[in-house]
Amino acid sequence: MIITPRFHLLEIGDQSWCPEFLREYSHLARMQMWRMAGKGKDGEPSTPAEFACNLMLEHIPDLSSFTLVDPCAGGGGPIPILEPTLNRKLRDRGLGPVKFILSDLWPSLERWASIAKRSQNIEYIAEPRDATEVAKLAKPGKKECRIYNLCFHHFDDPAAELVLRSAIESADAFVIFEMTNRTLTAFLNTTFIVLSPFMTTLMWFWSSPIHLFFTYVIPLVPLMFAVDGYVSCIRGRTDAELENLMRRQKDLDLSGWEFKGGETKVLPPFGVMYWYVGVKKSQQNGLGASTKRASDPLAYTPNKGLFWDCEELEFFKMNYSTNGTNGHGHHGSDYSHVDVLIIGAGPTGLMSALWMAEFGVKVRIIDERGTRALNGRADGFHVRSLEIWDSFGLGHVFANHGTPFATWALWAPDGEGRLSRQKREAAIGTDASRFICGTMHQGNIEAALVDAIKRRSGVEIERGVVPTCITVDETKIHDHAAHAITVDVRRVKRDELGTWAVNAHSVQKDGSTKTERGHVEADVVVNDGSDTVPIISGEPGTTEMIHTKYVIGADGAHSWVRRQLGFNMEGASHNAQWGVIDVVLITDFPDFKKHCTILSPHGTVLSVPREKNLTRLYVQLPGSDQDATPVKGIDTAKHMMESAAKILAPYKLSYSYCDWWTVYKVGQRVSDHFEYKQRIFLGGDAVHTHTPKGGQGMNVSMQDAYNLGWKLGGVLKKQLNPSVLSTYESERRPIAQLLIDIDTVLAGNLSKKDRMTTLDVNTVYDKLRDFNSGANICYPPSAIVSGTSSSSALTSLPLGMRMAPYPIFNLSSNLPVDLQSLFASNGQWRLLVMGGDVTSKAQLSRVNALGDALSSLLPKYQGSTKSGAPLLLPLLLIWASMEQMESSDFHDVFFPLDEEKGYDYDRIFVDPPARKGTGRTESAHVAFDVSVGKGCMILVRPDQCISWVGELDDVAGLDKFMGGIFLSN
Ligand SMILES: Cc1cc2nc3c(=O)[nH]c(=O)nc-3n(C[C@H](O)[C@H](O)[C@H](O)COP(=O)(O)OP(=O)(O)OC[C@H]3O[C@@H](n4cnc5c(N)ncnc54)[C@H](O)[C@@H]3O)c2cc1C
Repeated sequence: MIITPRFHLLEIGDQSWCPEFLREYSHLARMQMWRMAGKGKDGEPSTPAEFACNLMLEHIPDLSSFTLVDPCAGGGGPIPILEPTLNRKLRDRGLGPVKFILSDLWPSLERWASIAKRSQNIEYIAEPRDATEVAKLAKPGKKECRIYNLCFHHFDDPAAELVLRSAIESADAFVIFEMTNRTLTAFLNTTFIVLSPFMTTLMWFWSSPIHLFFTYVIPLVPLMFAVDGYVSCIRGRTDAELENLMRRQKDLDLSGWEFKGGETKVLPPFGVMYWYVGVKKSQQNGLGASTKRASDPLAYTPNKGLFWDCEELEFFKMNYSTNGTNGHGHHGSDYSHVDVLIIGAGPTGLMSALWMAEFGVKVRIIDERGTRALNGRADGFHVRSLEIWDSFGLGHVFANHGTPFATWALWAPDGEGRLSRQKREAAIGTDASRFICGTMHQGNIEAALVDAIKRRSGVEIERGVVPTCITVDETKIHDHAAHAITVDVRRVKRDELGTWAVNAHSVQKDGSTKTERGHVEADVVVNDGSDTVPIISGEPGTTEMIHTKYVIGADGAHSWVRRQLGFNMEGASHNAQWGVIDVVLITDFPDFKKHCTILSPHGTVLSVPREKNLTRLYVQLPGSDQDATPVKGIDTAKHMMESAAKILAPYKLSYSYCDWWTVYKVGQRVSDHFEYKQRIFLGGDAVHTHTPKGGQGMNVSMQDAYNLGWKLGGVLKKQLNPSVLSTYESERRPIAQLLIDIDTVLAGNLSKKDRMTTLDVNTVYDKLRDFNSGANICYPPSAIVSGTSSSSALTSLPLGMRMAPYPIFNLSSNLPVDLQSLFASNGQWRLLVMGGDVTSKAQLSRVNALGDALSSLLPKYQGSTKSGAPLLLPLLLIWASMEQMESSDFHDVFFPLDEEKGYDYDRIFVDPPARKGTGRTESAHVAFDVSVGKGCMILVRPDQCISWVGELDDVAGLDKFMGGIFLSN
């Protein structure tokens, strides 16, 4: 792991004033290092020279057809050691020897001549040659490999660029070896080496007073070893930095090259060799498609196979700093690796990050703005979203801070033209769920999610960070373990930082307005209000390259990610202009604590009650309908309220305080794609935009992320077959299309100029009723939703729909619980066994026979959640009275004993039959049309959706179905 930024400091050995005996000593020590006994890959005795030769043989195909050129040969370096070692290895393989050529800007002619005398395979160039502009030195017909032995760190960036350019343009391969780098291990190794002269001086220079004096009396030698060693470490480069040195030279053609880097321990206890190999593809076979780092499980991906042209490669301005191989928080760093990069920290991005936190995968989430949403924007919370929040253990947030509403009222002119209440009925979804819908401001929603993510994973939102370039390595697209995507990001400068506008104001007695701070503080979490102050996470202007396995584009309606992918938003926009305003009303209208639709010849107002005695009004602005161009100058809070007052007349309507307001135009669009090759996913407003009137945007957006998150988590944890990722688009795009279709009808009806009756609205609300709550969404058959029609004979619960809530009891404690609450969002799959009437012996033995079969089947699918809970959890719901059965009556799959934790009392539940006087009108078995004489099995996905239904003895069917989803042991 990189522990320090790179600085190009000076080494003593490089200075002209450095005494020759010190330079010599250091050279000798380096030479000796190549021969020192260490351990090879397989633990067999080896030396760094052996390792280097093996590495070249492994990664440079047809090595015997090469000439190896050392352009920085100095006094000869390790070539006299490498040459015999490599040629012996080639001979052992029945191959001819390779030649080595020594070259340098300052040729050491005497020494080279002596070296060349001893080996016919070593030659040298007598004329000075600058390593930054070496032409090909190998003889015609031979390929050339440049070899840089422990010297590349000596070049500063401009020189290093040229050295690499020279290799790329005039050679066929190159290898860089280093023993120093900006890693803890390298620093420790250097410390070890600093002490070595105390031993080696005696061994090598026991008769030299000067060496003895400057080692033991004035320890100049160890001091030089320390300075040059640590400086060499600080001048080390990572693989990505080496690659960047080439990539940032835009005219340098790298298209035919493959690169690979790695680090390998070659000497005990801390001696690591850092290596980097470049091979022209035509030579390539050893590198293969894999560019994995040898000692690092992270796939290191050169930017090959560019999928998009990057306009901005300013990343390569190289701000060498802390290396972020472990995720977030590395400011000004050069590169890092994550499993998932989320772009955009609105409701979609945050819900995605919550899942990632739940799975414990490496995630980063960036947002261009400096804070969470402050006030205004989305506030409607439909019941399905509440169920989802509850499943993450966040139900209390809305319970304590939300504003529920249970009733919808329709107001329109009566026969005499007077505005009157036409209809009052249950608000959408309240009959389908154990929750009541309501509102909570988006700032609170985001703050609660941000807090939950941090608590679960420690991950914080990186603010003021924008993506500048995204590339996909197409060669790795099918390897789900590879970091196939690279996203360059930039921390914005102070003056570029996006913030959320706050336009709160109060109305004074004289009618004038006074600017107010707005209800921007999030009261759902403990905080000091600092999350309202815009920040940039890191050093403004710095850049970073993030290698990631997956990207989630959750960057809202103007999605940058969507634009990079070239996806089209299909649909239409209209001229109708609506105002949205959150106000404290002074009014005699009686229904503002309900959700209202108010129709009048002057236009339409929709209202929802909000926290802090606020009401949100959606006001159709005058002169504005689907086709007409809106009147100018109506887009102010004052005009909005004047329009609303006209529509509400004869009721009085004014306001004392406005927390937020905006004006929007109607538009309904859906993206033609939701994902790119199951590596880049888009969700929320990035792929569907519509009017806020149905209060759907945030709900559908969070539900997109809810659908995607567990699939991604399961694949990353190697629990699920990556093919499940294809179901994200097939499940969510039709929902978005439906949302757009309904919104188009709703918006069209509410904006109609000549609408005088309530008929249209009734029709539309009937359509909305089914869809809006989110509770009735049913996903189509796929690999993760069985298509078997026989399931309808076993239960009326539809395949693909979320598990319904139902009051049941825990058998052991007799405490009431809701069936839906058994399906917490933690990545677990559950097999709900509807056990039927287990008071019948035959049925009890069927259930226990199933237990037997399951105990053989389950080990096949034994993964576990982040907290160690089994990936697939069997649950039993029996049709019996509480006093009729004991937990011990059932197979231990349903009542397991853990030696440490004791019995698991949370697997068996009771569904008592309806009984007069108990208030229970129906059992779940009856409500779900499950035969109490037969029972059934229901496989439930981590997002609570029903995946498969089968008979109690259909374990083979279950196994077959799961085999297509799970990666078995
Ligand atoms: C006036 C109004 C009222 C609404 N009322 C409701 C309602 O009552 N109920 C409801 O459900 N929905 C409502 N919505 C819609 C709702 O706000 C959105 O549907 C919801 O916020 C979408 O969430 P999202 O995460 O997909 O996008 P957003 O909330 O837009 O979040 C996108 C995030 O990405 C960031 N971002 C954008 N571009 C980049 C980039 N290039 N790099 C990094 N970060 C980037 C943004 O800063 C933002 O934080 C309303 C919307 C409006 C405008």
